[in-house]
Amino acid sequence: MQEARRLQALPPYLFRRIEEKIERATREGREVISLAIGDPDRPTPAHIVEAMVKEVHDPVNHTYPTSIGLVAFREAVAAWYRRRGVEIEPQGEVVTLIGSKEGLAHIPFCYLDPGDVALLTDPGYPVYRSCTILAGGEPYFLPLAPERGFLPDFSAVPSEVARKAKLLFLNYPNNPTAAVASVDFFHEAVAFARTYDLLICHDAAYIDITYDGYRAPSFLEVPGAKEVAIEFGSLSKPYNMTGWRLGWVAGNGDAVSVLGRLKSNLDSGCFQAVQKAAGVAALLGPQDCVREVCRLYQQRRDLVVEALNGMGWKLEKPRATFYIWAPVPRGYTSAEFAEMLFDRALVIVTPGEEYGQAGRGFFRLSLTVDTE
Ligand code: PLP
Repeated sequence: MQEARRLQALPPYLFRRIEEKIERATREGREVISLAIGDPDRPTPAHIVEAMVKEVHDPVNHTYPTSIGLVAFREAVAAWYRRRGVEIEPQGEVVTLIGSKEGLAHIPFCYLDPGDVALLTDPGYPVYRSCTILAGGEPYFLPLAPERGFLPDFSAVPSEVARKAKLLFLNYPNNPTAAVASVDFFHEAVAFARTYDLLICHDAAYIDITYDGYRAPSFLEVPGAKEVAIEFGSLSKPYNMTGWRLGWVAGNGDAVSVLGRLKSNLDSGCFQAVQKAAGVAALLGPQDCVREVCRLYQQRRDLVVEALNGMGWKLEKPRATFYIWAPVPRGYTSAEFAEMLFDRALVIVTPGEEYGQAGRGFFRLSLTVDTE
């Protein structure tokens, strides 16, 4: 059976290709060190697992959840924002997601008609591009250059493109570049969105993974942000919960409810036991576990950056995320460099162009692997 054209238009999913390489080498009995995938290597903190065990035994949680999510979880998200000085209304400005990826993947279906443009950063998390294409929209890429601290230049977007655009995806702290953005930059983005009537989709998956005392701002901290923006949050990285599939969208009430409406036609929500365990135990419980996770990655970051700098790189230590984004040595393309590392050392890194054209000449290395 011929698959639909919309699927043929997609590039192969990045991690699938890497996984195939790992599977092949592992089948051959070779030990591979994968620094390619950003998936925490430590377990979910015990108090969250224990809360889950309790909730899983409660038959109240065994029925269909609501598609917009449990009030208790949405209230926990509002409390998380209140700690950052942002007021969010749990009843109309938050929807539970089955991982933030689920919401990021579905938002283009809420707003893009054929011919509508989504402004995406390049390099960027591949889901923004693939789901813009699946929804029938057209991606327009805003390059992220090291000279600009990997922040997009809104003044470089032609006004005829900006007028056709309905969505702008931003992601700080950023995957894959590990760049951070200031509140001033978010102000600039809000002004740009107002001029062109855009919805900003800010992906805050790494907001809690920060180092050296740095605190990453929420996009919703900017006055007026809620008029033009929604933010996607995730339990995956700060609480080592990638497998649990839990996240949220918060901010502009209209956009949040449009996404909730789409979801009510697609899925039946997130297992209530997960929402309660994560909502109550993770977001409202002690946050030492998040500090511990950051301390661990900071140690690994120092080790890797110092080792690379010892070999001739000139990297600054990133202040957030668990990625190192580095230029490949002269004489290699990103793909050639990644292949050389694999062939000679069975080490897997991700070639930069897997995240977009502007990633050419870079590679990404993930710190989610034991120091040994
Ligand atoms: N956004 C970015 C930038 C990511 O790197 C990831 C996962 O790696 C996600 C979103 C998805 O996270 P979640 O587990 O919440 O779906």
